[in-house]
Amino acid sequence: MNKTKMVGTIGPNSFDYTIIRNMIVSGIDVIRINMTYASFDFAKQVILAVRKINLEENVNTGIMLDTVGPVLRIGGLEKPIINLEKGKMIRIVATGIIGNSEMISVPYKEIITHTKVGDYIFINNASVKLQVVTKNDDTLVCTIKNSGRIISESTLHIPTLDLNMKFLSKYDEEIIKFALEMQVDYLALSNVKEEMDVLDVNDILISLNDNNIQLLSKIENRHALEQIDRILKVSDGIIISRGDLAIDVSIEKVPQIQKELTEKAKKNEKIVIISTDMLASMEVNEVPTRAEVSDVANSVLDHVDALILGGETAIGNYPVEVVKTMNSIIDEVENSIDYNDLLHEITRFENINISKAIAYSSVDSANRVGAKAIICSTMSGSTARDISNYRPSCPVIAISPNSKVVRGLSINYGIIPRIVGMAENTDELVDLSIQAARRILNLQKGDKVVIAGSFPLESVNYTNFMKIEEIK
Ligand code: PGA
Ligand code: MN
Repeated sequence: MNKTKMVGTIGPNSFDYTIIRNMIVSGIDVIRINMTYASFDFAKQVILAVRKINLEENVNTGIMLDTVGPVLRIGGLEKPIINLEKGKMIRIVATGIIGNSEMISVPYKEIITHTKVGDYIFINNASVKLQVVTKNDDTLVCTIKNSGRIISESTLHIPTLDLNMKFLSKYDEEIIKFALEMQVDYLALSNVKEEMDVLDVNDILISLNDNNIQLLSKIENRHALEQIDRILKVSDGIIISRGDLAIDVSIEKVPQIQKELTEKAKKNEKIVIISTDMLASMEVNEVPTRAEVSDVANSVLDHVDALILGGETAIGNYPVEVVKTMNSIIDEVENSIDYNDLLHEITRFENINISKAIAYSSVDSANRVGAKAIICSTMSGSTARDISNYRPSCPVIAISPNSKVVRGLSINYGIIPRIVGMAENTDELVDLSIQAARRILNLQKGDKVVIAGSFPLESVNYTNFMKIEEIK
C-alpha cells in the first residue's frame, strides 16, 4: 500500500459519481475542489458524492477546498474565447469596456500607473504573454509575444507589479464559511504572501468556532518565499504550486526551490505537497512522458506527504488512468527506498519529547523487524503525525473514534486513518488495533505489527507505550 498520498482535483471531466469512485478506489486519498473554477453547487455535489463513497468503500477520503486568492482578472469579452496572435498589438485599459482581440480591460487602476514599459504581462495561466511597449495615462500598449487563447475573467499576472489587494475578498470569505458548513478537512490558500494572510483566515475560523480545518498555504509567489519561515509556523502545511511560482520567479528556479521548501517543511514537521503538471501530458495522452515519470519519482524520493493531480483529473481525458499511473510510479519508487538510512537522516534535527521518543522507537522497530504496519490510537491525530513524520517503511494505521480527526489525517504520508470505537483498557486497545489492521491488510500468521498509544486515556494525553505483536 502506497505511503505518498495522492490528491485528485475534480473538474468537468471527472464530475461523475463513477469516475470519482474509480479515482478513490485507484488510490486518491484527498479530493480537491478549486473554487476559482467551481461553483458552490458543484462543490456541494462533489463533497456529498465523496461522503457516500467513503461509506460504501469504508475509506476516509479527505476534502480540500482551494480558495481564489487575491488575483487580477480581465473583464468581459465580446466572444467566449478570443485568440490572440503573436506579433499583433493589444491595449489594456482600466475602464469597464467589453474586450476583444485589440483591447481588454482590467478593473484595477494601478495596473496602468505602476506597470512600466518593458514589463511582461501573463494572461490565463501564462497561455498568453504580452510586453508593454508604450503607455499613457489610461492605456498600456502591448505586443503579443506568444499566441494563445483568453476567456472572460481570465487571470492576469504581472510579476513586476506589487499588488496592493486585500488577501481575503468577500468571495473567499464565503468560501471559508462554506468550507465550515460542509466540514471540509483542508483549505488550500491561494497566493499567500505573508503570515498575516494565514492568520486572517485563522481568525475567521476561530470566530466561527472551528478547530478542525487545516490550512495549507500555497507557495506561488516570491513574497511567500521571502516569508516562508513565518508562513510555515502558522500553517498546517504548504503546497508548492509550481505553476504560478514558475511565472513569478522564472521557471528554471523552481526545481531547486521545490527541494528547499520540502526540506524546510519537513524540518518544521509540517505537511508538504507538490502540485502542478506532474503528469500533464496525460490530459491528452494515455501514457506519460519519461520526464514526468522522473518528476513524480523525484518527489517521492524527497519523501513529501502528497502529490496533486490538477488539470490531469479535472479537464484531462484520462482522469482514472492518470491516477493509476501515478500510483504505480509511487509504488515502484517507495519499494526502492532504504528506510533505515532515511530514519537516520531525519533524527539528526530533533529535540525529542516522550511522544516523539515512542514514535521514533515504533518506526525504528517496525523498520528493523519488517513490521506490516504501525497501528496507533490517536485522539487529536498528533501521535499518528509524529509517527508519519519519521517516514516509516510500513503504513501507519491511525484509529480514532472521531471522524473529523480521521479525515484530517488523510493527506499525511503513510497514514491509513480508520474510525474505531474507544477501548476500555490496554488489552482491548491492542485487540482493536489488530482487528483494524486485519481489515485493511492481508495479515498472515507470523506477521509483525507495532502498536503505539497512550494509556490510561483519561489521564495521559501523549503517546507513552509501544508493543510489538506477532500475528497468531
Ligand atoms: P492553481 O495553482 O491551483 O490556481 O491552479 C497551482 C499553481 O499555481 O501551480
Ligand atoms: Mn496557482
